Amino acid sequence: MSIILKPGREKSLLRRHPWVFSGAIHRVDQEPASGSTVDLLSSNGQFLARASYSPHSQIRARVWTFNDEPVDREFFRKRIRAALATRQSLLSLQDTDAYRLIYAESDGIPGLIVDRYGGVLVLQSLTTGSEYWKETFADLLLEETSLKNIYERSDADVRELEGLPSVTGILRGSPVTQLAINEHGLKFLVNFESGHKTGFYLDQRANRQRVHELAKDKDVLDCFSYTGGFSVNALRGGAKSVLSADSSADAIELCKQNVVLNHLPKERHSTLAGDVFQVLRKFRDEARSFDMIILDPPKFAPTSAQVDRAARAYKDINLLAFKLLRPSGMLVTFSCSGGVDAALFQKIIAGAALDAGVEAQIVEHLSQDVDHPVSLSFPEALYLKGLVCLRR
Ligand code: SAH
Repeated sequence: MSIILKPGREKSLLRRHPWVFSGAIHRVDQEPASGSTVDLLSSNGQFLARASYSPHSQIRARVWTFNDEPVDREFFRKRIRAALATRQSLLSLQDTDAYRLIYAESDGIPGLIVDRYGGVLVLQSLTTGSEYWKETFADLLLEETSLKNIYERSDADVRELEGLPSVTGILRGSPVTQLAINEHGLKFLVNFESGHKTGFYLDQRANRQRVHELAKDKDVLDCFSYTGGFSVNALRGGAKSVLSADSSADAIELCKQNVVLNHLPKERHSTLAGDVFQVLRKFRDEARSFDMIILDPPKFAPTSAQVDRAARAYKDINLLAFKLLRPSGMLVTFSCSGGVDAALFQKIIAGAALDAGVEAQIVEHLSQDVDHPVSLSFPEALYLKGLVCLRR
């Protein structure tokens, strides 16, 4: 089975970008089954890559390999082994038992995300290609990790673009649905049945540690706190007080439990279930102030189409946060929107400070942790951007 590209449309593949959009295709030979493996050929018949076929998606093919080699069980075993080895070399695994084991395109397996939470793997299949090989992936993952349990969380919206239904539940073994992970001496309850993404924001691990280091003696406001990743670290770091705000009552409940689980001073912690946009306005009207404000909102702009609206939302919360910061206070602000790049994010934050009437400086740039690598030929994998700003 093969896909023949239009003249000149092989360029991105020659730069090793792994996607082929429908508009680049001249002809599809026969009709390959959804998710099956096809050869990508240039207009003059030259072999370019071997890829998975996605008949319903604008991204019609995703490359497994640029070499003329079989794509089979052993091929994927090598990819999984390589991904495991990278984590072993980059993370100190005695300090954390929760990390992203496989990060899709970045690990040469488009569509597949696998996160490890203690003895449980949580698998997310996002494309027809990863769906086609899902059972093989599950078997290989157990063989290569010696673990027994896999829970599936293939319920991300992007599956719709591939024509795939939402699927969740046990894939292998008999995993419990909630357990406590260990991260740098702290425990966090993770529920991978009902939690966001696969259960926890693993990408923020290194940034949680920064907050741990920076929070001493501070009054901290943790906005979009989820289950308290930053809040718990701030308390452990010696914060004077921590207020966690999130719209999800379930997340707030787990956040409280996480404070107790780590024997942290409960009396220094408070929670607020509500809309952060309103909470910040209310605090401004009440002239409340903080030494450290963390803003880690959900994706406002998943793609570039929503950038303008997202930019306004980022500016809004950051402007309000700057107003609530005491002099020398610290804003730790993030964007996980793929559609907003680092330069634009910095510009939005600069605009927010200006309109808030405060002077601030960037003292640190933050990003996703090392278990979320970014292949140089696939820059789309970089989505998390953070700035630590000091109000002067
Ligand atoms: N900081 C967290 C992750 C935050 S994810 C961590 O490190 O673990 C984003 C969170 O924002 C989610 O918990 C979601 O419930 C919450 N959320 C989304 N929209 C919100 C809003 N308008 N107001 C308050 N919380 C919101």
